[in-house]
Amino acid sequence: MDTDTITAISTPVGEGAISIVRLSGPDAINITAKIFRGVNNLHNVKSHTMNYGNIIDPNTNDIAEEVLVSVMRAPKTYTKEDIVEINCHGGMVAVNRVLEIVLSEGARLAEPGEFTKRAFLNGRIDLSQAEAVMDLIRAKTDEAMSVALKQMDGRLSKHIKKLRQELLEAIAHVEVNIDYPEYDDVEEMSHDMMQTKTKEVHADIERLLSIARQGKILREGVKTGIIGRPNVGKSSLMNALVQENKAIVTEVPGTTRDIIEEYVNVRGVPLQLIDTAGIRETEDVVERIGVERSQQVLTEADLILFVLNNNEPLTDDDLQLFEAIKELQFIVIINKSDLKQRLNMDQVKQLAQNQPIVNMSLVNDEGIEQLEEQIAQTFFTSDLDASDAAYISNIRHIQLLKRAKKSLEDAMDSLKAGMPLDIVQIDVTQAWEFLGEIVGDTASEALIDQLFSQFCLGK
Ligand code: GDP
Repeated sequence: MDTDTITAISTPVGEGAISIVRLSGPDAINITAKIFRGVNNLHNVKSHTMNYGNIIDPNTNDIAEEVLVSVMRAPKTYTKEDIVEINCHGGMVAVNRVLEIVLSEGARLAEPGEFTKRAFLNGRIDLSQAEAVMDLIRAKTDEAMSVALKQMDGRLSKHIKKLRQELLEAIAHVEVNIDYPEYDDVEEMSHDMMQTKTKEVHADIERLLSIARQGKILREGVKTGIIGRPNVGKSSLMNALVQENKAIVTEVPGTTRDIIEEYVNVRGVPLQLIDTAGIRETEDVVERIGVERSQQVLTEADLILFVLNNNEPLTDDDLQLFEAIKELQFIVIINKSDLKQRLNMDQVKQLAQNQPIVNMSLVNDEGIEQLEEQIAQTFFTSDLDASDAAYISNIRHIQLLKRAKKSLEDAMDSLKAGMPLDIVQIDVTQAWEFLGEIVGDTASEALIDQLFSQFCLGK
């Protein structure tokens, strides 16, 4: 049990008008009360109240910062410990000064993720909820945000716990049969019963894994490449996508280009448009020629938007591009459908195999809706309710689910081979343990440390 009081700046560095210094632990209120001067004495204020005042530098007795201090008493707090949040208004210098003062009064600088770690260790949240906090920090679209929130809500945990319970019942049943053969009022666990149980849980895990693909997309975005010969309308398409949809631009420090990632949110699917800077910057027609230039895009993309000109017959370049993308997920866009049709549509349909074809006229703003519909359909399969599913969007969870699934497959193989149930049970127990690691029930100390150290400082 941790007994010291930790502190950190818990708002992003350099962002926003308000920065918060957060303290958690038995001395959180004491430490703050010593350096706070305001109308109220923090020792006496009600829990979960905001208090106006100043932070005083104890060395100089000067006012270090004008603040609003929230006092939240255990146990109804994020960490289940006393928490104080000092809201500062004066930018990074002031907030750092407040942090220094708090440290000099006896708080310890929190390790990355330590607040969330305490929440976990004190039983406030389970492991998958803790990881969801991290996803939340990184969530890039509203949809991804709501997935993270649901996970935090414990939906995934509930689901996993239910599966574990089912496996545990089967394991216990076999145990009873072996250890107490004389209890003949307990029905004997048969191979058939075991087969049914493992099959059910296995199917459920498979379903979760298929949802995981969507989870990944929601979290990381669909890397989307726009390709096509010069002048077919690639830039127009990109501009249309960016204008129609909320663009989320991420600045990545240390790069020479100011924008290297651009996200657009298409009906909840975050598209990351790749190499868009290239499309926009280069006016040189030769440099924009499809085939070589597209090679790079093709190796990275999850989705290709392949633009053709309705007004021209297919060229060799088009055929080469079709060849290059045939293994990938793509959507064919027939642009300039306002002009006379010179494309051989039968040939295009054949080359597109079964992948979607959308007619557009970008100068007239036509076809954008249909394209968006197509994108949403491609990435959200209809039998899954995007808003309701308990998504799995975390690499560690996916790996554990895959291992659990493999163990259940081993168990089913053993059953088919007619192995005794106490042998089969070993694999079933293994699966049960893998699932347990997702919710933190069998997670080792080392794993827990590893996970929490990945968190942002101050969360
Ligand atoms: P890119 O070279 O593939 O990026 O193509 P652009 O987006 O720069 O477009 C090339 C030219 O085609 C521009 O003059 C556009 O105005 C024009 N264009 C784009 N979309 C359409 C369309 O739907 N119909 C017609 N008639 N012209 C278009």
